Amino acid sequence: MDKDGFNRPCIQPGITLPEDVSRQIAWSCPGLNVKPVQEDGVNRGVWGRLISLTTGYASDDSLRFNGATGGALSALQKYLLENGRVDAIVSVSSDPENPLLCAVSSFSDPTEVERRTGSRYAPSSPLQDIMAEIKKYNSFAFVGKPCDVSALRRAATLIPELKNKVRYYLSFFCAGVPSQNATSKMLEKMGLDDKNVVSLKYRGNGWPGFASAMDRQGKEVRMSYNDSWGKILGHRVLGRCKICPDGIGEHADITCADAWHCDEKGFPDFREAAGVNAIAVRTSAGAELFRDAVRDGYITIQDSDLSGSVLEKMQPYQAYRKKVLITRTLACFVTRGTFIRFKVWPALVNAIKINPLRHVREFMGTTYRVLKGRL
Ligand SMILES: Cc1cc2nc3c(=O)[nH]c(=O)nc-3n(C[C@H](O)[C@H](O)[C@H](O)COP(=O)(O)OP(=O)(O)OC[C@H]3O[C@@H](n4cnc5c(N)ncnc54)[C@H](O)[C@@H]3O)c2cc1C
Repeated sequence: MDKDGFNRPCIQPGITLPEDVSRQIAWSCPGLNVKPVQEDGVNRGVWGRLISLTTGYASDDSLRFNGATGGALSALQKYLLENGRVDAIVSVSSDPENPLLCAVSSFSDPTEVERRTGSRYAPSSPLQDIMAEIKKYNSFAFVGKPCDVSALRRAATLIPELKNKVRYYLSFFCAGVPSQNATSKMLEKMGLDDKNVVSLKYRGNGWPGFASAMDRQGKEVRMSYNDSWGKILGHRVLGRCKICPDGIGEHADITCADAWHCDEKGFPDFREAAGVNAIAVRTSAGAELFRDAVRDGYITIQDSDLSGSVLEKMQPYQAYRKKVLITRTLACFVTRGTFIRFKVWPALVNAIKINPLRHVREFMGTTYRVLKGRL
């Protein structure tokens, strides 16, 4: 983790990577390449390739309440383990040694799913020990950010052990990874010393729920989602995330999101309610899993055919960043010569959906941020 509070990949001084490893990195690192390698479903504009788009939630009330949104991601994991569809899940939870940090591990006990519910708005690197992790079982489902899933899915095309063992890729919509320093800032605002904290949850316990923390003396504090994500965490995300070509989990079999109710101006209504996920099924493996999880009562469907335009009202930010992706990327390329590979044609089609003046503004804004070192 660097001084800005972000996990950064680095090569230890004096070590030269073997050529095949360098090639694997160049192919799968999501800072370089996020071109999807699977082509299921049909193209649904800014939402990418889809087999179905629905809203729903975990049928288990406890998972629904404790989940970040409606617990759908957790319900899918529970279904997979309880029905022997995979031996284990690899996912992120809070580090047992330091509740402020994310830790990754594999687990096979379905009761463990509930402990891992909720979003962790802090740096996570669920692939850091993936080759060691997958030695432990024969089949897995992987849960991670869209960039993690992209990296793993692409790496699996090169590494047979990954291809054979990772059976399902699950993800969520992601607006970016906040710095670890943002967590400390949030705790400071909540009136806790971050070195004294024994438990921390960013979300969950309702929808959107509260950020809640407790210190060694038993002092409990909480902060609304609007104040935690809206005013602190969401303002301190990694530069790469600001130009992310895929915040909507296009490489996953199933991607879950918040089915926010938004007002006329697109502001989400953060009044507490029972959580509802938007659920994007992207592959035939995902479609089969989703169908079976619904059939066997793990997930309850609310709207069985959510339209892309309604999802756009629920997730205006994700739709917007797809439309300006080309422009932001072009500005980065022109100012510093870097770019991330993604599918250009769909991005161009998305770009013509907004006023050209927006593109001018985005180009200038991104250029300014690059030159100021903020991106
Ligand atoms: C960094 C970040 C940004 C997000 N941005 C958006 C957004 O733009 N739009 C939106 O709708 N929702 C966003 N979310 C929330 C996420 O979409 C919801 O978690 C999603 O609706 C799934 O809800 P759920 O109730 O089904 O999840 P749960 O059933 O609560 O399951 C959550 C799963 O996410 C995993 N997880 C949590 N934090 C991390 C992490 N840091 N890294 C890897 N895995 C993690 C957990 O292991 C768990 O398996 C974000 C979450 C994160 C962590």
